[in-house]
Amino acid sequence: MTTIPNITLLDGTSMPQLGFGVFRVPDDGAQASVSTALEAGYRSIDTAAIYANEAGVGRAIAESGLDRDDVFVTTKLWLDGLSREGVRPALEASLEKLGLEKVDLYLIHWPAPATDAYLAAWEGMEEIRDLGMSRSVGVSNFLPEHLDRVLALGGSIPTVNQIELHPALRSAGVEAANADRGIATEAWSPLGQGSVLGDPVLARVAEAHGVSPAQAVLRWHLQQGRIVIPKSVTESRIRENLDVFGFELTAGELGAIDGLDRHGRTGPHPAEFNG
Ligand code: NAD
Repeated sequence: MTTIPNITLLDGTSMPQLGFGVFRVPDDGAQASVSTALEAGYRSIDTAAIYANEAGVGRAIAESGLDRDDVFVTTKLWLDGLSREGVRPALEASLEKLGLEKVDLYLIHWPAPATDAYLAAWEGMEEIRDLGMSRSVGVSNFLPEHLDRVLALGGSIPTVNQIELHPALRSAGVEAANADRGIATEAWSPLGQGSVLGDPVLARVAEAHGVSPAQAVLRWHLQQGRIVIPKSVTESRIRENLDVFGFELTAGELGAIDGLDRHGRTGPHPAEFNG
């Protein structure tokens, strides 16, 4: 079975560098695809309260027969819980659906910066971590200015910033800001939701290694130290996306893929999204 490297987060938590995403997968479908993923060898699952599939994810984990400690589970706080007192009940509801006593990583899903609520919510995140309800706490879709306001609170630094990052949207400034602050960058939509996979540059790189364009893109992320969570509901692709540890891209190939950056955002802009 594939050995997936771990990333050590700044609080010492160890997290698989490659995990499995379930955005836009209904509850039953999430159970089926997470079961397939765990069977294939994935050991990290990324869900969120707003995906409405935490119960299916939880059933798949329970039925896998794996030890709880062997599966890294991430879920996310939605905007309706964005206050200091809102975090704990939101996570309790997620844990109930997941059928778990704790998650491994809990993320503020979006900063929703029209108000400062994300700052109070960060203090709630530290509280649930200290209560043992999540091993580690981080953020998602935070721009450097949001990170700096969290850091100015003087408490903990988020361990992870999960951001949209793929060849058509390099997010290089946010990635560099994360690194400067010791925050691990986790790429969401690492395949650009499939939109980048037909690019001729990727076809050339993939062909040179006898791999698929999706595998070349995942390799590009992994060699640059990012955590990735590709999604698929198709068994062959679920397996293919895990088979990315037997080849190495050259510096020139990494640079060629970097060159595909074209502001190809698939989701909302974090500065503008307030729910
Ligand atoms: P993705 O970049 O992982 O792309 C998934 C799509 O790419 C699939 O639906 C399929 O069409 C295609 N695909 C997957 N594997 C393929 C392969 N081997 N060959 C060809 N095509 C393939 O997109 P995503 O699901 O948006 O992102 C991944 C995960 O990131 C999500 O499931 C979710 O867990 C997370 N996410 C987080 C946020 C956030 O705001 N934090 C937002 C979006 C997604």
